[in-house]
Order: sequence, then C-alpha cells, then structure tokens
Amino acid sequence: MQYKEINPSPRMLMTPGPVEADPRVLRAMSAHILGQFDPEFTALMNETMEMERYVFQTKNRQTYVVDTTSRGGLETVLTGAICPGDKVLIPAFGRFGYLLAEILERCGADITLLEKEWGTVFDPQEIEDALKKDSYKAVACIHGETSTSMMQPLEELGEICERYGALLIVDAVATLGGVDVKVDDWKLSACISGTQKCISAPSGSALITYNQQIEDIVKARKRVEKGIRTSDDVDGGLVRIPSNYLDLGQLEDYWSPRRLNHHTEATSMQYAVHEALRCIVNETLEARFARHSLNDRALVAGLQAMGLTIFGDLKHKMPVVTAINIPDGADGKAIRGMMLDEFGIEIATSFGPLDGKILRIGNMGYSSQKRNILILLGALEAVMRRNGVKVSSGEAVAAAMDVYQEAENR
Ligand SMILES: *Cc1c(COP(=O)(O)O)cnc(C)c1O
Repeated sequence: MQYKEINPSPRMLMTPGPVEADPRVLRAMSAHILGQFDPEFTALMNETMEMERYVFQTKNRQTYVVDTTSRGGLETVLTGAICPGDKVLIPAFGRFGYLLAEILERCGADITLLEKEWGTVFDPQEIEDALKKDSYKAVACIHGETSTSMMQPLEELGEICERYGALLIVDAVATLGGVDVKVDDWKLSACISGTQKCISAPSGSALITYNQQIEDIVKARKRVEKGIRTSDDVDGGLVRIPSNYLDLGQLEDYWSPRRLNHHTEATSMQYAVHEALRCIVNETLEARFARHSLNDRALVAGLQAMGLTIFGDLKHKMPVVTAINIPDGADGKAIRGMMLDEFGIEIATSFGPLDGKILRIGNMGYSSQKRNILILLGALEAVMRRNGVKVSSGEAVAAAMDVYQEAENR
C-alpha cells in the first residue's frame, strides 16, 4: 500500500483556535529528542517556567506545563484543587462555562450555576450577591468565552472572592498572550491556558499556574505511587486526587528539583512551548497586546464598513475574537465553506443557541497580522456577495487600511 507524505494545503487560520503556529515554533519542534532527565532538557523546563511566569504575570512557584490540551489543564487543576463535596459557584455565559460545570460535576463538586444570556458578561456585583447567600470553596469562571466572544472583567473579582473566602479559578485559554491576564494583580488563585490560541503553538500542552493556597490543598491530597515513593512521602490528610495522570502532586514533583519519574515528558511539545514563550518574551507583552488590539480595531472597522453587525455587548468583546451576526437569509455554513474552499481561509461557526446565528473570526497570536486582516476582509466581501448578501463594495478593506494608517501617523 502507498501512503502519501503529509503535505497539507496552506491555510490562513482565522478561527478562535487552532491558529497558525509561529514558524519558529514549528522549527523548534524538529530538533533532536533529549532524554527527560538530561540536564539540557531540565534546564529548558526551568526556563519555560520562568517565561510562563512572565506571560501569566505571576510569581507563583507552581507555574508549569501539563501534557494535555487546555481542557485537560482545566481538569487537572479542578480535580486537584476541588475535593468531592466542595461547593463551587460557576458564573456561566457561554459554552465553556458549562464545560467547567461538567468537569466539576465529575469531580463530585456541589456546583451552583449562575447563568447569563450568551453575548453578555456578569456584573461582579451579581457574583458577589451569590457569594453572600451561601459559602463556597471556589468560584470557577471563564475569562474569554470563545463561544460568544465576550470577556468577563476580572479586575475586582479576585478581591471579592477573597473577601468571601473562596478561591478563584480562571480559564484564560483564549486570552493568555493576546490580552492582559494579571494573575497576581487580579488575585487569581489558579489560571489555566493552552497553546493553540494566542500562544501560537500547536495544540497539545496546557499552561497552568496556581498559588500557595492550592499548593497546600494538593499537598494534603498527595499520594506518590508505589514503586517510586520513598520513606519521605507521607500521605496528606485529605482525600487523594482521583487521577494518576493529571495528578498535580506528582506533576509538581516532576517539575521540581526532585524530578519524580512520573510520565515521559512530550519532548517536542516542550520545545514548542519554550520557543512560543520565547517569542512572546522577545516581542514583550505590551507590544503583543497592542498588535492584537490594532488588528481587532481594523477588523471591526472593516466588518462594519461592509455593513455587517457585530454580535454581543461590544463593551465586553474580546479583542482576539469577533462574532458577526449572519445576515438574514444567508447560510452561515455556505459562507464559511466558500471562505475555505476558494480562499483557504478558515473562520468558525458557534455552538448551542448561537449555532447558525453567528460566525466567529479569530485574531490570535501569529494569525493576528495586518496582512491576514486585509485579505480576510476582501475575501469575506466577495463571499458575502456570492451568497446574495448585499454588502458595500470596497469599503471594508479601505476602512481597515484607514485604521492602520491612523495608527502609523500617531
Ligand atoms: C479552546 C478553549 C478551551 C478548550 O481547549 P482545548 O485545547 O480544545 O482542550 C477551553 N476554554 C476556552 C475558553 C477555550 O477557548
């Protein structure tokens, strides 16, 4: 039998993930394999932790990488920090809020859902009101709700949770590396992200960070497996973490000078994460956020000039995702299909109540480039017309170019 070499078509990935990986990241992935306890490799791991602290804007000692996708990162932190029976409050305003609820239910947590219409966010006061009514071990929420393009303000929430003695565990999968995520300033107890969105590496690693409070819980639940445990490994007083693979206790020991022989580290993904973080450190967070913000303003100006409307509460729109309302009578699937087939540009649909109602455009990481925004706008205009949508002609690209021009003149 003959199988063809992997040789995928070039694509412009303008979805909310996966996005284009930085070419430097792809090159790093083709480097020689090192053994996982080789001092050269463990030195790379230590550098990764340092750079990750910069990106998360934290001093947390426990800041490392788990070999799983972002969802696995959420599961790792939630399974480790939340014991069966713990009460957790989940303010949900889209698909990923429900994912937190689903994972927590499986952890045996006693969850309370606060629900909000998709396309909106919570007023921190609403969360505080719920915290007043009952006592919770934790609040778990999404920062950038990719399914709706809304971004929950978190500045005050950590302070509020602290006042009510609740941990605040945040999913920043879609936002980290594209917009400010200030783990320490915002008093987040734990924060979880992935690699295939604004970090711009392939999917396959989760970036996590958590504070001393969670480290203490993990310590109390720690059980090092038989076969590698030593006489120094004393069991803690709390119920053991139910997962072996996603066991924060043993993972901490692998990422610490102890270098516990837990799993075999995914070498090439570690190279990818190291290089992706190095690219961010080089660019600086400030310049990176400014780049995403400028491209966002150009994209929105272009879409509006075309005559399209943006979905949701614009005050709380993520700068890294934009959702457009599918015009009346138009077929979202056909538009998306033609973008891919004719132009090699991928954009996304949505889920649940928004399925068939909006199209989502990502502006993340390496995909967040002026060139991509301008080409996308030109292509979308042509595709809209082919699908019978009356859009203004030539205005979209011009409006976006005006935004870039203005930024250059400033
Ligand atoms: C993409 C995404 C996830 C899931 O990430 P996977 O890497 O697919 O596991 C979780 N939360 C949010 C907010 C996301 O955008």
